[in-house]
Amino acid sequence: MRTLEQLVRPNVWKLEPYSCARNEFSGEKAQVFLDANENPYNKPLNRYPDPLQLELKKKIAKVKNVPEGNIFLGNGSDEAIDLVYRVFCRPGLDNVVAIEPTYGMYKVCADINDVEYRKVLLNSNFDVDAEKMLASCDKNTKAIWLCSPNNPTGNNLDYKAVETILHKFDGIVVVDEAYSDFSSKPSFRERLPEFQNMIVLNTFSKAWGCAAIRLGMAFANEQIIELFNKVKYPYNINTLTQMQAMGAIEERYDVEGWVRLLLQERSHMIEAFNLLPCCEKVYPTDANFFLARMTDAQTIYNYLKEKGIIVRNRTRVTLCDNCLRITIGTKGENTELLAALRQYE
Ligand SMILES: *Cc1c(COP(=O)(O)O)cnc(C)c1O
Repeated sequence: MRTLEQLVRPNVWKLEPYSCARNEFSGEKAQVFLDANENPYNKPLNRYPDPLQLELKKKIAKVKNVPEGNIFLGNGSDEAIDLVYRVFCRPGLDNVVAIEPTYGMYKVCADINDVEYRKVLLNSNFDVDAEKMLASCDKNTKAIWLCSPNNPTGNNLDYKAVETILHKFDGIVVVDEAYSDFSSKPSFRERLPEFQNMIVLNTFSKAWGCAAIRLGMAFANEQIIELFNKVKYPYNINTLTQMQAMGAIEERYDVEGWVRLLLQERSHMIEAFNLLPCCEKVYPTDANFFLARMTDAQTIYNYLKEKGIIVRNRTRVTLCDNCLRITIGTKGENTELLAALRQYE
């Protein structure tokens, strides 16, 4: 492993972060707040939110079994993805290596930050070849992007291959586990203490049913979390989002119940798709969606759109010729999709 100092952009390493009023005073007992030029009326929204979201992190720490100091919260996972570039990658000089196909935001953020993005094709089972990934790295490779279960393919990456990359790569390895709640495989989050170079991403947008509040989580060693905190916008998670997330955790939103239901629906859907004349193949999935190779993805996509049913057309994605990505909906929604496809000639 290169040292963190060797990996971090020099300007970020020596950055003196903005110190907001709420950072400078974090005592418990004060009642009179005349430090932040807020309006004293319109409680509770008149106050700036906690910049480090400590109360919320305490609750997330329990749910995810990760110490608070190892948690970063972002405005969606997208913020954490962008921060990987802003913290580690010198524009125009450094590069990252990623599996292909995968989630589109890794490349968009690379392009925005002017960082070279190297794609390494998955094999025909949509699995990752650790040696091929490592062979694509050079001294300016700062991060490797892995996504498991992967989007849009749906499958978990081979556990041993991810382990090999974590052991052998001397930079940052991001494991995006946005869909891990739907998978029966163990999460790499559990192995945080073992890998100082690992960042695991989770989100409230999928199994937790809270895409609207924009709350993503990154789990990593404390030094990496401190760097993220230094670079992020001071008040990146607004009060409404923090309150809503705490409510979701306290009320123990029935995440497990939802997941169980969606997995049942998923097996029904896969069975039904396998019987459709317009479906050629359903790929194995560990997520709340599946990828299906169709006879003609574009025409079927348009046909469904006409009927007010939107699926994700992935036919132009590498290795996904004629593929549609289908999210598992409610029983009613799934039935509607199947009925439409049964009528399709
Ligand atoms: C949906 C998804 C996310 C979630 O992004 P948010 O910004 O947290 O909503 C992250 N990673 C992958 C691979 C996804 O598919």
